[in-house]
Amino acid sequence: MSADPQDETTELLQQLIRNSCVNDGQVSSGDEVRSVDTLAAYLGATGLDLERYEPQPGRTSLVARIEGSDPEAPSLLLMGHTDVVPVNPDGWSRDPFGAEIVDGYVWGRGAVDMLNITASQAVAFRRLAESGFKPKGTLIYLAVADEEALGTWGARWLVENERDAVYADYVITESGGYQMATPDGVRLPVLTGEKGTFWSKLRIRGTPGHGSQPFRTDNALVKAAEVVRRINEYQPQTEILDVWRQFVEGMSYPAEISEALLDPDRLHEALAELPLGMSRLVHACTHTTFAPTVMHGGTKTNVIPDLVELEIDVRTLPGQTGEDARALLDEALGDLADAVEIESNDDGPTESPIDTPLWDSLARVTRRLVEGSELVPFLMVGGTDNRYFRRAGSVGYGFALFSRRLAFEDYATMFHGNDERVDVDSLGLTEQLWEAVARDLLE
Ligand SMILES: [Zn+2]
Repeated sequence: MSADPQDETTELLQQLIRNSCVNDGQVSSGDEVRSVDTLAAYLGATGLDLERYEPQPGRTSLVARIEGSDPEAPSLLLMGHTDVVPVNPDGWSRDPFGAEIVDGYVWGRGAVDMLNITASQAVAFRRLAESGFKPKGTLIYLAVADEEALGTWGARWLVENERDAVYADYVITESGGYQMATPDGVRLPVLTGEKGTFWSKLRIRGTPGHGSQPFRTDNALVKAAEVVRRINEYQPQTEILDVWRQFVEGMSYPAEISEALLDPDRLHEALAELPLGMSRLVHACTHTTFAPTVMHGGTKTNVIPDLVELEIDVRTLPGQTGEDARALLDEALGDLADAVEIESNDDGPTESPIDTPLWDSLARVTRRLVEGSELVPFLMVGGTDNRYFRRAGSVGYGFALFSRRLAFEDYATMFHGNDERVDVDSLGLTEQLWEAVARDLLE
């Protein structure tokens, strides 16, 4: 390995991409033990104690720690997942698991989600260990399995079964940290909270009959079509959360745009003016969302169906409970609510405050690394492993750093998309971030 931290991060990232720990949601997939072997070989050179946890064969997570001298001092967990989502190679211009470097970009599945971070955290950890880093607070590195399938055999399992091994007061994992230009300088979003999921299965019943005589039949499919229509047209109230307000205020938009983005009665005006991708994101940050995604019903062309099952991806905002979400769903269904059986899985939203030592530490360090930059909080509309740690009591942020070569729009489309790649400057910058934050917060 090269001595330059950026080259070292690049090489480690290439190995992790080539390990292709693809998680398709089945317990037999992932096989993250391959990347744990890679990382253990890399970190083992420092003589650090490494612990492996393997709740299912091959679904291994790795923990390394540098114990602090003061048990009262705050602890920090740097957490990166080692699994990636599947690819459709037809959509790629390069081998998704080849980890080729082209024009200063590393190509491959996981390049931004999030093997870039997992690799840079490991490099920072090893460099700190080799430098004789003796912090007051404990530093933990966790390369975690199974993030892409709800953390069942990764973060969730570890927090439930091996809390002492992984718990820290402060946690940093994906994503955030892309440079957003404003008239007042660069802004770096920190993901301080994430929406919850309230995935719901609706059972819509009818009465079976012969398809040759449909007049005035009780057809479950026809009823389900109306249910889908109502859910699609439903417009829940616009909610302006603190995190949204702080983000908009931090972005120095022209006053007119800022005001519209913060006014529940005018937000839809602003949405109409935004590019489509951005309007979707803004909408999701300010609303509970309902997306009908799966429908199964009917058995045969000549049978009036008596059962349709419909799945709705409901996403709740910080502050909302499952009951709140259920009430909105009932409101969307209107007089059909009583005719529908609803079964929901409530995995609620989570949020961390911004007036914390971790925030202050990130702000100090990033001002040095990215000239003229300031942090802004942002809401993650999907989910990450941070939620398990926030619920256990940690302050959890999603953050990293990217160079100006990686625009936010590109970053957003590469997440789980085609032609995922990251520039090597971003890798170097992120590695510096972790070393500097560990020193700033823990020493
Ligand atoms: Zn991820």
